[in-house]
Amino acid sequence: MIRLSKSCISAVEQEAVRRVLDAEYLGIGKNVFEFEEELSDLLGRQVCCVSSGTAALHLSLQAIGVSAGDDVLVPSLTYVASFQAISATGANPVACDVDIETLQISLQDAENRLTDRTRAIMPVYYGGLVLNQREILDFAGKHSIDVVEDAAHAFGSHGNLGLVGSSGGITCFSFDGIKNITCGEGGCIVTNDSDLLEKVKTLRLLGVDKDTDARRQGGRSWRPVVREQGWRYHMNNIAAAIGSAQLKRFDVLAQARQQAASYYQHALSSHSFVHVLPADYSYTVPHIFPIWIDVHDTACRDVLGEKLREDGIETGVHYYPNHLLEKYSTIEKVNLPNTEYLASRIMTLPLHPELTVEELEYVVNRLCTRLEALR
Ligand SMILES: *Cc1c(COP(=O)(O)O)cnc(C)c1O
Repeated sequence: MIRLSKSCISAVEQEAVRRVLDAEYLGIGKNVFEFEEELSDLLGRQVCCVSSGTAALHLSLQAIGVSAGDDVLVPSLTYVASFQAISATGANPVACDVDIETLQISLQDAENRLTDRTRAIMPVYYGGLVLNQREILDFAGKHSIDVVEDAAHAFGSHGNLGLVGSSGGITCFSFDGIKNITCGEGGCIVTNDSDLLEKVKTLRLLGVDKDTDARRQGGRSWRPVVREQGWRYHMNNIAAAIGSAQLKRFDVLAQARQQAASYYQHALSSHSFVHVLPADYSYTVPHIFPIWIDVHDTACRDVLGEKLREDGIETGVHYYPNHLLEKYSTIEKVNLPNTEYLASRIMTLPLHPELTVEELEYVVNRLCTRLEALR
């Protein structure tokens, strides 16, 4: 079976984990702080590592004061993590439509959904594509709301403000098992706001304010300073050691993803009813490679998936629209025509750094043959 995605682990990661195990200090410690430094050097801003991308989003929203009764704009075409992070604060995720060409949040649609409760916008860099970072910042500035970027798909990508995470709003990355770099599970918050950084560092440790502790006691205290609701969201040393090793190999990992995506893009872009993202893969480091097929019969996509599975090719669907999930569907029906059109036509092809040229050729070959039969 050609896998849809996978973790790619080398001797470098194995050796790094071995060293943490030998040191017998598995919690949050030296490896986490080193990984934060390395990410900070890369991105030129401050970094707080946490246990997942979802935790990064949740803490960012909490730290900027998003709470019950607030609205947060978010594309419906995303992993349920984006929605859950918003509703975890008590706020209301306001599902927005995406642009039909780029599959990024439509600012036009978002504008129509602004209310006096809107506190933030959470763009999702779907497929690693980062097209309108500057426009999103301008939009937020114009409406006096914050930007919390869900950059889970886009570690290493460049947009019109440079490397993602190097500027703009608060940026959240995921380092889960299959993302552009992995820690096993993990994520981080990137910001240039020192107060916000301190806040999320406290919130990730059950609200225990380590710095105030140290200042008051001149060292470690057994009487913790806890002022607000925090969470058990810190990263651990094993995860950080894997992350650091992946970061050292990132050029190779990124290039392999970019080359695979370019291959698909070239092979499929002239196909009469297949669409691909308008990405320049010299600037985009893709987490997934989505296609969507222009067909009337919405059963086609699922049939195609089954046929490809018979060929030994695993495919996926990213994503089922969140506004149609039980938890997030409102009594008043939300109309997101592009998202709903895509929902039954979108399919994700295998993408990970260890795909061979032969495997890529085979996927394209089988896909085109199976598509021909569906016509
Ligand atoms: C992976 C992902 C997340 C969440 O990250 P985890 O580390 O899995 O919690 C959030 N948003 C999107 C779009 C993702 O793909």
